[in-house]
Amino acid sequence: MIRFRCLRCSHCCFFTLPKEQPVLLEEEVRRLKELGRERGIKLEFTKVSEDLYRWVIWGYCPFYDVSKRECTIYGERPLACRMFPLLINPQNGEVSVSRACDWVRANFREITESNPWEVFPEEMKAVVTVFKRLRRTD
Ligand code: SF4
Ligand code: SF4
Repeated sequence: MIRFRCLRCSHCCFFTLPKEQPVLLEEEVRRLKELGRERGIKLEFTKVSEDLYRWVIWGYCPFYDVSKRECTIYGERPLACRMFPLLINPQNGEVSVSRACDWVRANFREITESNPWEVFPEEMKAVVTVFKRLRRTD
């Protein structure tokens, strides 16, 4: 059985495609705006469905410290970052695996043959949390 192990390549904090940009709950947009205000960073979001927003980022995330190669809001990073390399399509709710991730590309065949709960246990929990919040069940 394979299990996801982040290689710290930083590709998930660098954005070139809209479909890879983080999908956020409204409460996450509010919190990120607060964090941006505290640091003097202007952030851009676009509504993509009734309850979901896309965080529009081109290039490195403004909260990514390139020299230290780390997220500067790690404890408060949104669920989209916690679930990566899993992605939620905000239009149809489909969950997919991002090929932008080095580990995914290196293990893609095994991933497709495995139970996602075994390969991505923590990331799947973040996916479930998003769906629960959308249904307001907690
Ligand atoms: S919030 Fe943190 S983990 Fe998420 S994209 Fe930005 S730097 Fe990366
Ligand atoms: S792209 Fe994948 S391996 Fe690279 S830092 Fe992000 S989660 Fe880790």
